[in-house]
Amino acid sequence: MHPYIKHLLEDIENAERKENDHFGYPAPTTFEEEMEEVERYVSGEGELPISELTGLKREYFPPSERLTDEDMEVVLTAYDKMLNTWNTQIEWQPDMSVRAQYDFLLEFVLNYKIVPINLGTIHLDFCSGDSSDCEWGEYCSCKEHWDEDVKKID
Ligand SMILES: [Zn+2]
Repeated sequence: MHPYIKHLLEDIENAERKENDHFGYPAPTTFEEEMEEVERYVSGEGELPISELTGLKREYFPPSERLTDEDMEVVLTAYDKMLNTWNTQIEWQPDMSVRAQYDFLLEFVLNYKIVPINLGTIHLDFCSGDSSDCEWGEYCSCKEHWDEDVKKID
């Protein structure tokens, strides 16, 4: 294991949401409060990069060239687990190698802006619906449908 990974894993674990951390917004307890939280989400109030929410900056993550698949696997697992504590989940595309996932994490996830919420789950799919400019590139699962649509038009 890369010697730095142990520290990174500690940092990721420390970035998990503490029980009473609602980032300045009340935790909804009634239906009305839940609706207010959903409205806040839709309005974009409180939006910030994930790196700011978690304190995990891109420079903390060694480039994939320096790491083994095993290193990247444990980092990705810890990061997913940590993000779940913030009601947020990355919708990983199928058939991605560990390396491709790790590169995607650094390139597109760490500084991605979200509105953190105190209920439900934010699903980050990053998919534009158009595989020609989708962040997932060749891994985009909408590609198949897109190609089929294009064929139909032809
Ligand atoms: Zn896509």
